[in-house]
Amino acid sequence: MSKNKNHNPETTVVHSGREPEKNFGVVNPPVYHASTILFETFQDFKKAEEGRLERAAYGRHGTQSYRLFEESLCAIIGSEKCLITNSGLNAIAITLTALLTPGDHILIVDSTYSPTRFFADQELKRFGVEVEYYAPGIGAGISKLIKKNTKVIYCESPGSLTFEVEDIPAIVKCAHEKNALVVLDNTWATPLFFDAVKHGVDISIHSATKYIGGHSDLMMGIISCSEKLFPTLKRSYKNFGIISGPDDIYLAQRGLRTLPTRLKAHEKAALDIAHWLKNQPQIARVLHPALPDCPGHELWKRDFTGSSGLFSFVLKKHLDEATLGKFLDNLQLFKMGYSWGGFESLIIPVWAEKIRSVEKFKPEGTAFRVSIGLENVDDLKADLANGLSALKN
Ligand SMILES: *Cc1c(COP(=O)(O)O)cnc(C)c1O
Repeated sequence: MSKNKNHNPETTVVHSGREPEKNFGVVNPPVYHASTILFETFQDFKKAEEGRLERAAYGRHGTQSYRLFEESLCAIIGSEKCLITNSGLNAIAITLTALLTPGDHILIVDSTYSPTRFFADQELKRFGVEVEYYAPGIGAGISKLIKKNTKVIYCESPGSLTFEVEDIPAIVKCAHEKNALVVLDNTWATPLFFDAVKHGVDISIHSATKYIGGHSDLMMGIISCSEKLFPTLKRSYKNFGIISGPDDIYLAQRGLRTLPTRLKAHEKAALDIAHWLKNQPQIARVLHPALPDCPGHELWKRDFTGSSGLFSFVLKKHLDEATLGKFLDNLQLFKMGYSWGGFESLIIPVWAEKIRSVEKFKPEGTAFRVSIGLENVDDLKADLANGLSALKN
């Protein structure tokens, strides 16, 4: 176990969440498939009934697989507590359900992941929660939007599809002055490139489906918080019967062990391709927080310690459907698929302008989101170059 706070992330992910001494020396924790877990004595049964049993009493409470992964997550995130859910969206839904009550007001960033928006508009509103969106560049201006009943400010930085970086410290300061909690979807940066705890975020959420799993073979979400907020979040988690299965937990734990190493490769290749794309004649803009003309770039430089492999680019022209189809179908290495953060490169066309309600996004032409995988970067560039050359200008 790596409880040593002085260890660097590469060491923490390798040494945390293991107990070979309890498992015949085996390096990796075993996968416990369990619904029923037996009580040895009536005394143990009684302890479980009274919530005093040290270990899980039922599969839904999470087995050792769960506990060891939770330990690794807390170590790498730097949070006191974590909850593991069966998808990233589910982590968002449970968090907001736990925190909000009818009559409460939530402020959500306009550039948020669209399923988060659907959850807010289609579920939270039905339960009498007042939902309002704010512009990603708002910073301390959020203060004017905070009302007496504002319970939560929900951030996602950088924003999905358009990659604006938010001024999280300014938002945290305003929120805490008025007793609101700050929830952050930190999936893009992972715990390695944005330290949510250090920046005062109350609850950070990750879709572990992306970089933490890293191999496009599992769905999982993570909610991390303080001891103080934990009982509130755990209440809804428990009452809605959320749990993540042991095989997925095993895969995610295995993914986490190489996260720092993989992320460096994703970062380097994505930066290389982003700079290259910027110089192509067909391209109007590249939306990547590490590029100086990306909105919030200065904030990224101030608050983040790296950039991951997901970004967007905008063409100078709007492609008609036939040309768009030809461009995408001609790519050999960039495959079309949702999700991101896996070993394989992906591309999808995106229409962020159709989603926003506060601040219009006005792309010059057709926009695409790419997830840069672990292939050779020259091969990836050649693939894009080949696709772009068919578009002329
Ligand atoms: C994918 C994603 C989610 C949802 O995660 P799932 O595991 O797919 O449910 C949430 N936020 C962001 C930013 C995402 O990209």
